[in-house]
Amino acid sequence: MPQNLLDFDLQGLTAWFAELGEKPFRAKQVFRWIHQSGVADFGQMTDIAKSLREKLAGAVETRAPAIKLAHASIDGTRKWLFDVGVGNGIETVFIPEDDRGTLCVSSQVGCALECTFCSTGRQGFNRNLSVAEIVGQLWVAQHSLRAAPNRTTGAVDPRPVSNVVMMGMGEPLANFENVVTALDVMLDDHAYGLSRRRVTVSTSGIVPAMDRLAERCPVALAVSLHAPNDALRDQIVPINKKYPLAELMAACRRYLAHAPRDFITFEYVLLAGVNDTPALARELVECVRDVPCKFNLIPFNPFPASGYDKPRSDAQRAFRQILQDAGFVVTTRKTRGDDIDAACGQLAGRVADKSGRVLKRIHKEAA
Ligand code: SAH
Ligand code: SF4
Repeated sequence: MPQNLLDFDLQGLTAWFAELGEKPFRAKQVFRWIHQSGVADFGQMTDIAKSLREKLAGAVETRAPAIKLAHASIDGTRKWLFDVGVGNGIETVFIPEDDRGTLCVSSQVGCALECTFCSTGRQGFNRNLSVAEIVGQLWVAQHSLRAAPNRTTGAVDPRPVSNVVMMGMGEPLANFENVVTALDVMLDDHAYGLSRRRVTVSTSGIVPAMDRLAERCPVALAVSLHAPNDALRDQIVPINKKYPLAELMAACRRYLAHAPRDFITFEYVLLAGVNDTPALARELVECVRDVPCKFNLIPFNPFPASGYDKPRSDAQRAFRQILQDAGFVVTTRKTRGDDIDAACGQLAGRVADKSGRVLKRIHKEAA
């Protein structure tokens, strides 16, 4: 099997080149060709010595997951469905806005954590994505978006992806090493050069891995809270039984000592009649009292046989108002890309769902 160069961060590529007797600057050159220029073919890497090209020929490849489907919405939202093995698909979504372009990236096929309202969780765990499969989502998005000029202005944006959110399929902190290596590539100035503040890991709250992330690669952190007390959170986010709220809040405080931003984003999926009452909103204010934070409210995205309903708009408003009155900054995810069935946060549903129905919402991430 040829070595897939998308599996390396710069450190890894440099070490691998050293084994071949090649100097670090050669690794840097190749890394820049791949990630900055989107070039996979050594023939096109014009400043690479012929002797190196010959050495690598046949021994390496630059292989992103195969694209099964690519869609573009009239509002500019883009979606890719990637093939990652027989019967498996993962999705990546690009959401353009005036001042940024956000890519929602998947980290696993399925998820073992089984949050009850999440179609990825309902599907069960299949496998971790490799570094190449995670980085490959960004590689494909960045370079194919760059190739397509802006439809209204005709301009070509050299770096259309300015933000990454690890909010696609899977729990990123349960695929820790591969995710951290992929984050290294995203942040590297010789690759995508994304700011730490513009790369967000979203976790359901795997406490020890939050501490490891703070040490290894502190990027912006979003924590999927969804309930303000252990009794309710145990039911809908089962990992809470292992890492209950008091531990989670303490981990958030520890994380902030390393974080590139001075707040945690708490995500809160509003499930009608389950966690969207005014009393729970008031309890939520108390729950996060000691953690500098913002809230991102996500109206539940229904999927077949989920057993949950979308929150009523008056319930959403009342919930939001209580948080705002307590002094919190609150955003509510808006829907985007309806015409291409783009969604984020529960993307696997459409892949797993044999009924042919699709989930029709996408969030606008307020980074
Ligand atoms: N595993 C990580 C990241 C992926 S999910 C996590 O749980 O944080 C990204 C976000 O989408 C999470 O906040 C998740 O709770 C939310 N989500 C999952 N299913 C959803 C649904 N059906 N409707 C709305 N949001 C959902
Ligand atoms: Fe996994 Fe996140 Fe879905 Fe929970 S919400 S099952 S952690 S992907």
